[in-house]
Amino acid sequence: MVQILDAPIQNIKYFGPAAVKKLAKLKIKTVRDLLYHFPFRYEDFSNFISIADIKTDCQATAGGKILSAKNINIFRRRMVLTEILIEDGTGEIKSVWFNQPYLLNQFQPGNQINLSGKVVLSKKRLCFSNPAYEITGRDGDSRRQKETLHTGRLVPVYPETYGLTSRWLRLIIKPLLRFVAQIPDPLPKEIKKDNNLPDLNSALSQMHFPETAEKAALAKKRFAFEELFILQLFMGQSRLKLQKQKAPEVPFDEKMAKKFVGALPFELTGDQKKAAWQIIQDMSKNRPMNRLLEGDVGSGKTVVAAMAACLAASNGYQTAFMAPTEILSRQHFEKISPLLNKFNIATGLLTSSEAKIFNDKGEKISKNKFIEKVASGEIKIVIGTHSLIQKNIRFKNLALAIIDEQHRFGVNQRAEILRRPAPQLVPHLLSMSATPIPRTLGLTVWGDLDLSLIKEMPKGRKNIITEIAPPEGRNRIYEFIKTEIKKGRQAFIVCPLIEESKKLSEKLLEAREIKAAKKEQERLQEKIFPEFKIGLLHGRLKPKEKEKIMSEFLDKNLDILVATSVVEVGIDIPNATIMMIEGADRFGLASLHQFRGRVGRGEHQSYCFLLTESPSDKTNRRLKALESAQSGFDLAERDLEIRGPGDFTGVRQAGLPDLAIASLTDAKLVEQTRAAAKEIISRDPNLNAYPLLKTRLAEFRNKIHLE
Ligand code: ADP
Ligand code: MG
Repeated sequence: MVQILDAPIQNIKYFGPAAVKKLAKLKIKTVRDLLYHFPFRYEDFSNFISIADIKTDCQATAGGKILSAKNINIFRRRMVLTEILIEDGTGEIKSVWFNQPYLLNQFQPGNQINLSGKVVLSKKRLCFSNPAYEITGRDGDSRRQKETLHTGRLVPVYPETYGLTSRWLRLIIKPLLRFVAQIPDPLPKEIKKDNNLPDLNSALSQMHFPETAEKAALAKKRFAFEELFILQLFMGQSRLKLQKQKAPEVPFDEKMAKKFVGALPFELTGDQKKAAWQIIQDMSKNRPMNRLLEGDVGSGKTVVAAMAACLAASNGYQTAFMAPTEILSRQHFEKISPLLNKFNIATGLLTSSEAKIFNDKGEKISKNKFIEKVASGEIKIVIGTHSLIQKNIRFKNLALAIIDEQHRFGVNQRAEILRRPAPQLVPHLLSMSATPIPRTLGLTVWGDLDLSLIKEMPKGRKNIITEIAPPEGRNRIYEFIKTEIKKGRQAFIVCPLIEESKKLSEKLLEAREIKAAKKEQERLQEKIFPEFKIGLLHGRLKPKEKEKIMSEFLDKNLDILVATSVVEVGIDIPNATIMMIEGADRFGLASLHQFRGRVGRGEHQSYCFLLTESPSDKTNRRLKALESAQSGFDLAERDLEIRGPGDFTGVRQAGLPDLAIASLTDAKLVEQTRAAAKEIISRDPNLNAYPLLKTRLAEFRNKIHLE
């Protein structure tokens, strides 16, 4: 019988082709999927009262016999009113619906009906207005429908996408609930008992048609628990696996460390020193490091990573340093190489458009040559894009993998770099990110990774003055940009695509975004800033063209750079002091903060303007957070509060179930599930005594991409 649950719904007579098609849009393909399609809230229609007791503005359910029913055309207002009169022995009350003339068919006088909803005063008489309704008995038939679906109870409200109404979903889900007894419960008994959780069967029923609000809440808790518990089991198993792995030991070379620090044009901040020391200690062990270096934009993570790479090289080991874009890879290469070359450490750059090694001439070599030099161990530090994880790249002795802007990489790409080295050894992993992951999220989603924080900014950095501006403020900002440019500064103007269309593919959207940015560049050049030079940067440009524009901007041959959202990541232009972001409400706080981080890197005061078209309260709150907070850490916590964890970088991409995502903020539940998972894993790491759990975990592993 379990087959019924997993059968495609088109094989079940009960569903017509139209229903199958609609459900497919919600990714509902089986009866099981339907049963796991949960309401997001309940309408409380459980307050059943006599008509005589009804008062205005109360939310009530009344049941009675239909006395009369009719459609009334109101020509003046081009409206059809469906009006019925019912009575229950204590009194009579009217009910009206607007513009749904077809309802009349259902309202046969003589039938029993329940009405649930709001009661208003109309022409001095009480009246239900657009209530939920349910026929509970037919004229001349003494049988009464025992259980109601739409009225007289806690009524489930489902996310109504693609024209699927809650009413319809209730009708199809209710009869399926009799199959729930056949679904085996993956949660072990003792865990349910210890954590006071209901059985799967009752939880499923209570989730859809709860008897009380408490039971609904408990059911929801159970499913949240289950999702997080599976996630924690998954983490626990991965951790065990990781503990068995061996990494190359990189002993601390103090002399080299001193030489490196001495060669820097600045002094490291306290946080940078601390982070470097933590990394050095990790690398000296024979267990693979799994450390995330979190630091705000401009806090100086690169130099810390470079130091780790330098120490690996001084021990004869190789480092792979991966960055998400070509420009960024190149900038890293250009910064790091001259420094390390002083110590005779050879560096190389590999992107899909070029292969280069650093010597006096910045020699370009063929890709094949490059690959040879990596395999022979001649190039000690290999910097590049995901070109580094191509199949044909072999390292001689990779000891350290550095991933810059780690959230920009897919989890598979991150894993791939660790598979590069000699057999049996796993390199140490240092990930870097400027979008901080709140601690509960980090621990849950990325397991027990170690964190190094750089909270302290290099000396002399000024706060960036940030301002939310309505469209009317635009001209004032243009004037301001003019005065800044006349002082010798430069400005970024970021233009996202304003029109939004879910129907368009990402490619088409990008094309439109570019077109919009181009138009804006032309407009600015002709109408606003005829005296200045304006460049355009977008994602479709060839890497060479991008680099050309970036270097023109860097060399001050351009005054203003109009950009699509590509400008987001890592590049350093110290002379740019203005970041103007059009349509700021279209971006998440993390992205906005990243944009803002493009300025404020030099000695001059910098500014960030957030242009927004009549934003909602929610976006306004978000943007306000940006106005007041300078640190990405504060912002991350705010973002988590305001948007919930689902929008968090990396969380949605990891493919976690919605309920798990929503529960990640529940620190107590996270802790409970963690403890429960830990206990089971320590006793039975392969879950041999829990076959159902094992299956459930295997399914989870297939769906998710965290490893
Ligand atoms: P991010 O953490 O955003 O990757 P970067 O590593 O690109 O930041 O550093 C930003 C800028 O700050 C670079 O130009 C870098 O040379 C400079 N920098 C890094 N550390 C310091 C420091 N301790 N003092 C002064 N400048 C520093
Ligand atoms: Mg960086």
